[in-house]
Amino acid sequence: MRLRLPEERPTEPPTGFKIAHPVLSQDGTRAGFTGVSLGGALPYGVVADASCVYGRRHRAPARLCDCGFHCVHERAAAEALLCTEEHRAAVLLDITVLGAYIRFERGFRYARQRVRIATVGPCACGARAVALADAGWGRPGWRALAAACAGCVRGRTSVSLATFARLAGDGLRVVAGGDPVETVDPGLPEGLGVPELVAEAALLQARLDWFQSRLAHLEGGGAQQQAGP
Ligand SMILES: [Zn+2]
Ligand SMILES: [Zn+2]
Repeated sequence: MRLRLPEERPTEPPTGFKIAHPVLSQDGTRAGFTGVSLGGALPYGVVADASCVYGRRHRAPARLCDCGFHCVHERAAAEALLCTEEHRAAVLLDITVLGAYIRFERGFRYARQRVRIATVGPCACGARAVALADAGWGRPGWRALAAACAGCVRGRTSVSLATFARLAGDGLRVVAGGDPVETVDPGLPEGLGVPELVAEAALLQARLDWFQSRLAHLEGGGAQQQAGP
């Protein structure tokens, strides 16, 4: 049987862009992503293989199915998806397409990928993100995360961008709004530089301030509870 699609033999693996929601495992030890549409129920790691989302016994991407990872060629096309209300909290991923792929006009459908960079947008309040915090939804065993600034993270379950990158592993870089905030060598968990430590300190200080204000509120509570602030 003859293949209908022309075969490509690129010297370097193709690259592309997609959007996804960052996720943190229930026990807080693993980080990954979950897709925004097809296959969104299955969180994936930094390096991952696609499987048929319909459970059919073929290798993704099958030509007569629509399974496999998807990405677009143009960064702007992926960024455009972030404008919709339901995707506002998603992050932009720079990916490398590995393994078999099918090329389309706007992007690829493919077997295997590596997420190289996750770009985190601003906090919902508009300030620069220092952390990824519990977004209030998830998948079984996984909490979805959304960008949070030091002022909005409060007592929510959260990880700094550097910690997210470390937990995700495999050399993932996580950047806030286009500025690199961290590059983690997975072999050196203590290899954080000054900018990463400053970001960690800001996050810890914000959380400490929040806990102290809660504590002060509780200590001063009792009779004044109904008097309001
Ligand atoms: Zn399939
Ligand atoms: Zn905020």
